[in-house]
Amino acid sequence: MAETSKTALSILGEPTGACWSCGEMRAAHFCSACGKVQPPVPVDYFTFFGFPRKLDLDEELLEQEFYKLSRKLHPDVYAQAESREQQWSLEQSSLLNDAYRTLKDPIKRTEYLLRLEGVELEEQSKSATEKARATGEVKKQVVPPALLEEVFELNMQLEELRAQKKMGEDDPALIEEIGTQKLELEQKHDALLQELKNCWNEWDKLVDRGSEEDRRKARDKMLDLLNRRNYIRNLVRDVNEVLET
Ligand SMILES: [Zn+2]
Repeated sequence: MAETSKTALSILGEPTGACWSCGEMRAAHFCSACGKVQPPVPVDYFTFFGFPRKLDLDEELLEQEFYKLSRKLHPDVYAQAESREQQWSLEQSSLLNDAYRTLKDPIKRTEYLLRLEGVELEEQSKSATEKARATGEVKKQVVPPALLEEVFELNMQLEELRAQKKMGEDDPALIEEIGTQKLELEQKHDALLQELKNCWNEWDKLVDRGSEEDRRKARDKMLDLLNRRNYIRNLVRDVNEVLET
């Protein structure tokens, strides 16, 4: 723990240019000589925290760094400062919050890293679905090929139940069957998440060494797991929606 702490701090301490105030070489967020807040530089969220671009990150350390920086960037600290310093601390704070929210969530972290790696992710978020609904177009979800067979039956049953509910009826046996399949899906979801976490280590080992081909394989594997996991999460949400209406 102490060792990782030191590593992260020493990376954070790396100079990124000259301080606007005293001209010394400065660290990412604050000048290492005079301590003044610095204008934000465009960096990825891992770099913002001084972490390498690795997925199996120390979540405890992430939280510590987040609270430490939150306190240092708090608007109250800058109440008497120049207006540009107030502005920079606000900008840094908002970056900090975005970076923290993204990195602390295992799925968001993985998706973010894949985007950094140039991978285009399918937008399957709830907001995308709702936006599609609002504009009247049906959001067509692509079923990952590996799941086609598994979810075919359930999708049919869901359609049937939707139709029944529209007619003001429902079939208890059908509801029970759908409920059973939902439980299986939830287990599958958790298993996929675990498998994804296992891939992190594989990826992290390839960051520093490993061929482009190996990295591509690891990326594709994570992408496939994410797609399946996201599809299942959305399907469970659909099931809940139909069951609750
Ligand atoms: Zn300075």
